Amino acid sequence: AKADGGGGVRLFEDAMLGRIRARQSMKRDLGAALERRELHLVYQPLMDLGSGRACCVEALLRWDHPERGSVSPAEFIPLAEETGLIVPIGDWVLETACRQAVDWPADVSVAVNVSAVQFRCDSLPLRVAAILARSGLDPVRLELEITESVLLHDNDHNMRVLHALRKLGVRIALDDFGTGFSSLSYLRLFPFDKLKLDRSFVSDIGHSAQSEAIIRAAGEMGTALSMITTAEGVETAEQLAWLRAHGWSQAQGYFVGRPSRSPFIPASAAGETMS
Ligand code: C2E
Ligand code: CA
Ligand code: CA
Ligand code: CA
Repeated sequence: AKADGGGGVRLFEDAMLGRIRARQSMKRDLGAALERRELHLVYQPLMDLGSGRACCVEALLRWDHPERGSVSPAEFIPLAEETGLIVPIGDWVLETACRQAVDWPADVSVAVNVSAVQFRCDSLPLRVAAILARSGLDPVRLELEITESVLLHDNDHNMRVLHALRKLGVRIALDDFGTGFSSLSYLRLFPFDKLKLDRSFVSDIGHSAQSEAIIRAAGEMGTALSMITTAEGVETAEQLAWLRAHGWSQAQGYFVGRPSRSPFIPASAAGETMS
């Protein structure tokens, strides 16, 4: 803001304003996205490292915006959380994923991401129960993936909700393990069925002895706590072999399979190509 007489500051302010406006208009559009059928799910397989077969499929949300094209969930999930729209959208995700999973092999479960905002509602377990009943999906085939942020606030309330969900027979996975601040204390608070190690660790396999030591320790701890241990972001054969050799139960990542619309029919016949 010197030689340019403040023009630089104005440009900066314009850019800020532009971003705020874009967020606001996206928030508005998100409100209509469900009705306009702009949302869909893609499914990414998790491989059981013992059998080498798909044992679970994670549902991932996609938004095809009429003007912006495909918007990343990393971008619009936070907006959906701010507006509360994540509650109806989350219900839609659950219902769509459960209905879809009924058509899959019976030994394959479906994993659905559940936001901390959805947990604020006391009725979440009731709604999950209703969705399971309507879809006819066996509750043991549903896995709910939560991150530490779910447990951050109001522990009593969230613990009640978690236990009520567990009572339905669904499984609970701790997602993005290792990236939060107090992962270990959360393992003491609730008996998770599955631990999902964040992909930032997996990408270090073969490059960092330190990361490898952490992955080994996390795997042993998960196994000792009777959890299924899943590693995310597996992109190479080397990473897969390493995880198998070190006793990890499951692997997920581009090397195992990309997210696609129809995980159980050939990619050539599926709606979304394996880009
Ligand atoms: P997440 O739950 O950790 O999901 C895994 C993300 O990693 C997905 O990104 C997936 O496409 C990506 N991924 C999978 N394998 C690989 C790999 O080998 N390499 C790399 N680099 N990435 C890989 P995506 O689909 O963009 O989703 C981002 C995040 O958005 C998810 O992270 C999750 O936190 C959130 N999200 C997605 N769908 C939903 C939903 O239905 N509800 C809620 N609440 N959150 C969702
Ligand atoms: Ca997840
Ligand atoms: Ca994750
Ligand atoms: Ca994540």
